[in-house]
Amino acid sequence: MTQARYEICVNCIMDTSDSGITFDARGWCDYCNNFERNIRPHWHPDAVGERIIGKQIEAIRRDGRGRDHDCLIGISGGADSSYLAYVAKARFGLRPLLYHVDAGWNSQQSANNVEKIVDGLGLDLHTEVIDWLEMQDLQLAFFKAQVPHLDTPQDHAIFGGLYNFAAQRGFKYILTGANFATECVKDPIEWHYHATDLRQLKDIHRRFGTRPLTTFPLVDIFTYKLYYRFVKGVRVVKPLDYVPYRKETAVQELVDKFGWQRYAHKHYESRFTRFYEGYWLPTKFGIDKRRAHFSSLILSGQMTRVEALQKIAQRAYDEATIAEDFEYIATKLDLSVAELKALMHGPNKSFRDYRNSLTLIDLGARVLRLAGVERRVVR
Ligand SMILES: [Zn+2]
Repeated sequence: MTQARYEICVNCIMDTSDSGITFDARGWCDYCNNFERNIRPHWHPDAVGERIIGKQIEAIRRDGRGRDHDCLIGISGGADSSYLAYVAKARFGLRPLLYHVDAGWNSQQSANNVEKIVDGLGLDLHTEVIDWLEMQDLQLAFFKAQVPHLDTPQDHAIFGGLYNFAAQRGFKYILTGANFATECVKDPIEWHYHATDLRQLKDIHRRFGTRPLTTFPLVDIFTYKLYYRFVKGVRVVKPLDYVPYRKETAVQELVDKFGWQRYAHKHYESRFTRFYEGYWLPTKFGIDKRRAHFSSLILSGQMTRVEALQKIAQRAYDEATIAEDFEYIATKLDLSVAELKALMHGPNKSFRDYRNSLTLIDLGARVLRLAGVERRVVR
């Protein structure tokens, strides 16, 4: 879909680069309206939230008695998950096992940050190393599929690894760093299709992959949302929504307490994500994910709209780093720079060009909402 006319929300900075965006008579977009209607009334980073999360923490501690660890936390080395590990141990007195996926793209900085959190908090760490040849094959398949959601292989490995591990090892609680404060404006589905739609992943891999995925951690969205949740009893807790979580303050706390190093931007702990979000997506698809992130910060009162507009006008990336990363990514994928450039200039596709379970996923989400299991309405 191409938009006939450019329009930008008057409240946040989401615009018609999201082809599905709608505006009300005031010029507010549907993300802003969703936030006011469905998120803000249920979001309590205050005394109310403290009581709610307090009860959950109590249950986690109780259920975890006699076990080495009472919960599992996926840690990427990014700010949200690092801060979550800190809050879980230092504030809530939990005994988490940290779970880290090495999908081959971690920057040295993120590896250092994970180490600093593990050592600083005295926690145990389990690292899952993804077979690189399988990861490379799947990653390359997504490049060849010409879709915008190139981060699916990495995201899927992280999710799949974490959920499968929890179910196998009998963990009843997974704590995630997902939060409204920095993520209340979700990436539009055209920008970032569900990484756990196994049907889509398999279809793209069947068409463009060459190597069977024998050890790669695969999980279907229905498996973890239904089977793991209701049969295996694995619950997902999002503590950062119940405590005051301001990005800048949190990052500063991590720097001061653990010598943690800040990243230039959210998700830049992965060298692939930096290249992909900072360069590939804006250049090839006209998608700038900072737009959704900054809009989240506007809605949660952590950035002004003027500041966001100024920041988004600057490129996320400088020329020298682009050239360096372009070569790095090509080499990792066993391509020449010219081959990667050819992929870059190929015809753009969307998740809709491949098999997917979107209808079923939407239906499932509606059922879970009606059943009161999931409250939030995403757009
Ligand atoms: Zn808006």
